Amino acid sequence: MEIKRNVLLNPGPSTTTDTVKLAQVVPDICPREKEFAELMRTLRKDLLKIVHADPEKYTSVLFCGSGTINIDVCINSLLPAGKKILIINNGAYSTRAAEVCEYYGLPFINLKFPVDERPDLAKVEQVLKENPDIALVHTTHNETGTGILNPIREIGALVHKYGAVFTVDTTSTLAMVPIDIEKDNVDFCMASAQKGLMAMTGLSFIIGNKAIVEQSKDYPKRSYYCNLYLQYDFFERTGEMHFTPPVQTVYAAVQGLKEYFAEGEQAKWARHTRVFNAINEGLDRLGFRQVIKPEWRAGLVSSAIYPDDANWSFEKVHDYCYERGFTIYPGKISTTNTFRLCALGAIDEQDIRDFFVVFEEALKATGVTVPVKYNA
Ligand SMILES: *Cc1c(COP(=O)(O)O)cnc(C)c1O
Repeated sequence: MEIKRNVLLNPGPSTTTDTVKLAQVVPDICPREKEFAELMRTLRKDLLKIVHADPEKYTSVLFCGSGTINIDVCINSLLPAGKKILIINNGAYSTRAAEVCEYYGLPFINLKFPVDERPDLAKVEQVLKENPDIALVHTTHNETGTGILNPIREIGALVHKYGAVFTVDTTSTLAMVPIDIEKDNVDFCMASAQKGLMAMTGLSFIIGNKAIVEQSKDYPKRSYYCNLYLQYDFFERTGEMHFTPPVQTVYAAVQGLKEYFAEGEQAKWARHTRVFNAINEGLDRLGFRQVIKPEWRAGLVSSAIYPDDANWSFEKVHDYCYERGFTIYPGKISTTNTFRLCALGAIDEQDIRDFFVVFEEALKATGVTVPVKYNA
């Protein structure tokens, strides 16, 4: 079977291998069969290995949904009665977590920092000290909206010093940036199958501390479909997802995981780094400025600022590239007009060189001056 290969430079879903795509073509199976439960049991165990989690202490729980379901589940399930949540917020994805708190009517502190800066740890500690009722702290590892990497190990050390639980949105780092759940002081991390695992959309998972999940059995139940303990307990007792799993997506995730281990943690991260460096070189050569300073970049997302050129049109450049098999993506910052180029997926530096040939053509074809210009 010939499948057209597109190079996706958007922040997920990412370019997949044909073997992952084809892993979905399987005989029909009822997911309540033992064979399928066995597949998920192995998948849950293997997911722990990505973050070097000790299976005695950690568990993984699968959900049917995009990555946002993990944020929803963690926030609504892990807050004891009478306690408060702290969101350390320097971007769009932590803002999403704050919105989850609002929707559930949960007491929370939205500790905001500029989107192009790392959180100030002294301020984080001050808030923890002044609010002993904070039981849950949440932040984002790689703020995919800008590409800034947050210092989770340092934040986690503070969170634990003040006796709270630390949940981290690692959707855009897990299975790319090496993570060690225990050394990084993380109690719960999360991702969806279509990002670092380079599999399909529709399957998400949370990896976290088993004892805390079991404790949460007695916390207020705020959602029926999205409760962490209920899903965990059902998996432990039956091996199955509480409700119908995304069957074919699970097969693709199993294949993605197999390819992840075959490539290897370090080799895969080295490849993403090669791709990221090639993106930055290309942007630099064309004169583009970026939002996040180099030493703070997570190494996966470049946020380039729109040039000051009357002919610049993101849509036109996007369409030109899209027609030639390359997808670029708008930014997610309210104050600056940006677009993003991401190093996720089954791509390598040659794909980026090929992309920049097309991208430069697109600029010239639409009348944008190259190298691009900025007024100030
Ligand atoms: C992609 C992503 C998500 C999930 O977004 P969905 O639209 O639900 O797939 C959550 N957090 C981060 C940091 C992400 O990059």
